[in-house]
Amino acid sequence: MMRTVYVNGEYLAETEAKVSIFDRGFLMADGVYEVTSVLDGKLIDFEGHAKRLSRSLNELDMANPISKADLLEVHRELVRVNEIEEGLIYLQVTRGSDGDRDFAFPDPETPSTIVLFTQNKPGLADNPAAKKGAKIISIEDIRWGRRDIKTVQLLYPSMGKMMAKKAGCDDAWLVEDGFVTEGTSNNAYIVKGNKIITRALSTDILHGITRAAVLRFAREAQMDVEERNFTIDEAKEADEAFTTSASAFVMPVVEIDGVTLGGGVPGRVAPRLREIYLEEMRKAAV
Ligand code: PMP
Repeated sequence: MMRTVYVNGEYLAETEAKVSIFDRGFLMADGVYEVTSVLDGKLIDFEGHAKRLSRSLNELDMANPISKADLLEVHRELVRVNEIEEGLIYLQVTRGSDGDRDFAFPDPETPSTIVLFTQNKPGLADNPAAKKGAKIISIEDIRWGRRDIKTVQLLYPSMGKMMAKKAGCDDAWLVEDGFVTEGTSNNAYIVKGNKIITRALSTDILHGITRAAVLRFAREAQMDVEERNFTIDEAKEADEAFTTSASAFVMPVVEIDGVTLGGGVPGRVAPRLREIYLEEMRKAAV
């Protein structure tokens, strides 16, 4: 089915939608994005994604081209016209274009570019990969130092996924100064007994919207949460490991650098958190 997408105030067929070759998103990766999942035709944690979008824009002195109410309306309209029951909505805002290429930011009055499109993913919640668990490799984290800003500079994360694929694995965890920062496109956790361990928030990692919800549910379920650094060696000796993201929810990890965890099958904590997350977030969806 030909998608209807949203570009700068207009709903267009995907083949008709265009942005300038001078757009700074294209030339300089001068843009930010969000990905919101859709379950039962409704948006999961729209509020969290809208808030983080504002923060990312703010940190980069980029104008917010749309009000929260209008943004919600655009998300809902795209879900409606594209008949999305389960899937994702991708949103990108860039610093726009003043018709040329220059390192200096254009005049602040230059309009931002805003683009949204849907990705139809039937079976997103019932993903068989979550029952099997993911195999990961560790690689060095050589990204820039403001990973808390959700920019479209995704070349290294893409390379990380390709390195994982080449090694016969699903994903990569990034390691800096001996400690795991996060996954290529998710936050990283290990479990020891009843304790969930994940790196604390800082500029070193993206402040995952799913992370915030999952940690809240874990605490409500009387699980211990410790926000601290951990090494890959500690992860290899953990009872369980998992990742969180808006597109894969809670994903168990069953192998790290060739070392199997929990006999190579998902344990008790990650699948339970996935269940709670999906149940609670479906209830709160808008
Ligand atoms: N870290 C990185 C580097 C990511 O790209 C993502 C997903 N975009 C996440 C963490 C998870 O964030 P969220 O739960 O908001 O999807």
